[in-house]
Amino acid sequence: MYLKSLELQGFKSFPDKIELKFNKGITAVVGPNGSGKSNIGDAMRWVMGEQSSKALRGEKMAGVIFHGTQTRPKAPFAQVTITIDNEDGALEYDSDTVSVSRKLYRNGDSFYMINGKEVNLKDIVELFMDTGLGRDGYSIIGQGRIADIVNGKSNDRREIFEEAAGISKFRSKKKEAEKKLAAAEDNLSRINDIMGEIEGRIGPLKAQAEKAEKFRVLDEEKRKLEVSVWVHKLNEYMSQIAGYEEKLSAVKKEYEVITQELESIEDDINDSFAKSAEKSELADSYKNQIHQVELENSQALSKIAVYENDISHLEDNILKLKEQISESNSSKYYLEAELKTRRQEFEELDEKKSKAAGSCRL
Ligand code: ATP
Ligand code: MG
Repeated sequence: MYLKSLELQGFKSFPDKIELKFNKGITAVVGPNGSGKSNIGDAMRWVMGEQSSKALRGEKMAGVIFHGTQTRPKAPFAQVTITIDNEDGALEYDSDTVSVSRKLYRNGDSFYMINGKEVNLKDIVELFMDTGLGRDGYSIIGQGRIADIVNGKSNDRREIFEEAAGISKFRSKKKEAEKKLAAAEDNLSRINDIMGEIEGRIGPLKAQAEKAEKFRVLDEEKRKLEVSVWVHKLNEYMSQIAGYEEKLSAVKKEYEVITQELESIEDDINDSFAKSAEKSELADSYKNQIHQVELENSQALSKIAVYENDISHLEDNILKLKEQISESNSSKYYLEAELKTRRQEFEELDEKKSKAAGSCRL
């Protein structure tokens, strides 16, 4: 087993995605103070499940996300992936290459993955247990950590040696087994209590069980009877359905006949409508003609009234003229008598004259 590569994105001083490849042998990272050498170690510790922000030299876990500079914005998340060569099967994972990822968003959402499959923190911790890797492993020793180990308590040193000897796994399994044993013992004593209680209730429970058995038999009988009732009802319904179906087909036939009749009636109605429309057009034209004739009639009537008026005037005039004529006739009679008189007088005078003239010549 050996570390093949480390990929960082948005982690501490590494905003861009970078991949560090490690070959077999020793790899040294060299750089000036503050250039990010220890951040690489922190990334290793973090991806293997480190939960203490202090161990990562920060105050809060979100402090590992690149916090931006004057010229670069903050990163939305930090992601670290390590890829381990597992050809020797040192990791209990069925794959020649194992890659472990951890991703953390600013809102606190966090994900762990093994070979691209989402897993829990527990799976990561178990994967590295007793391999010397892992967040508590001795393979990552930070600045000043050697001095801590040498000057520390013997218990802390013991943990490191146990991890190196590969017995932490068994210790943890032992702890788990002890917990399970305690839980099983608890359950056993609870079951004993329950058994004691149940023994006291066996008598009444027996009576209840007999009752229950009776109920079960009767219930089964009831169910059988119910089933036969339902079968009977079903048969009745089936014959009713057959009757209804017959009626339905007769009604359907009737319906078809009526539909045809209805269609022919509708055709007749449509014809009648068309004819009625024609007739009403004709009636409209007759109405117009009548109106025209009435108009002409009323004009003629008013002309007649004018003519009648003229006639009555003319008749009046004729009467007047007749009167004048009769008046003239009577004056003509007098005038003729007068004329006769005058002619007689003239003739007498003319005679006298000629007598007078004859006497003169004499
Ligand atoms: P030394 O030689 O002194 O040990 P180093 O190379 O180990 O230095 P680190 O401690 O790895 O340096 O890196 C420190 C740098 O990382 C600091 O400049 C710090 O500003 C930067 N840094 C830490 N956390 C973040 C973050 N969240 N975002 C951006 N930069 C960060
Ligand atoms: Mg350093």
